[in-house]
Amino acid sequence: MNTLDAARALGELQAALQGCTQCALHRSRTKIVFGVGNPEAELMFVGEGPGFHEDRQGEPFVGQAGRLLTELLLGIGLTRDQVYIANVVKCRPPENRDPMPEEIEACSPHLMAQIGIIRPRVICTLGRHATKLLADTDLSMSAVHGKVKEREVAGVPVLIFPVFHPAAALYTPANRRVLEEDFAKLRVLLERGPEAWRATGEEKAREPLVEAVPDPSVNRKAQQEQLPLW
Ligand code: URA
Repeated sequence: MNTLDAARALGELQAALQGCTQCALHRSRTKIVFGVGNPEAELMFVGEGPGFHEDRQGEPFVGQAGRLLTELLLGIGLTRDQVYIANVVKCRPPENRDPMPEEIEACSPHLMAQIGIIRPRVICTLGRHATKLLADTDLSMSAVHGKVKEREVAGVPVLIFPVFHPAAALYTPANRRVLEEDFAKLRVLLERGPEAWRATGEEKAREPLVEAVPDPSVNRKAQQEQLPLW
């Protein structure tokens, strides 16, 4: 599929979703938040579900957590329009509660269809709902963040890379630090592929894993670590 075909296929999928009543979330939504970005993105982000601002604007990650996501992206040399951003559920859960299992079940085929069209190489899952769904795991975010899992999702071989949800880092500097470190690893994964994770032995371990990230201490930490496959 070329970019035009992928954009057209996503447009058709989005159009088919208009007026969706497949789960209870349709009752309280303002707009369906389908997804935005490059239809052929190598890197896709999947969050949990729209919040207040996303519900009003019809675009994912446009509130405070979204601003942080944009900053983290810029920190590794990427802009929002180079990646694709979507959510597990496309309509806002009331009061920002967690999406219910039946809502995730009803909505996830649309996410799978998006993944099947975009065919990303890396999917960065933001928080536990996206991680549980796409990495098919019940492990905690503390156990899996910043690690890579090779999987086939929607018929596409992908590398799943979980990170904490940006909302968890808004008021907690320690969490923000972990997110920045994980984004530095994400940059390595994009630039050098899973081989960087498989590297074993003195020589490879000594190779710099990150060439340039804005925060020098983040850079140093990512270089020292043996980046783990999970
Ligand atoms: N949180 C999410 O998980 N998704 C959004 O789109 C916004 C906030």
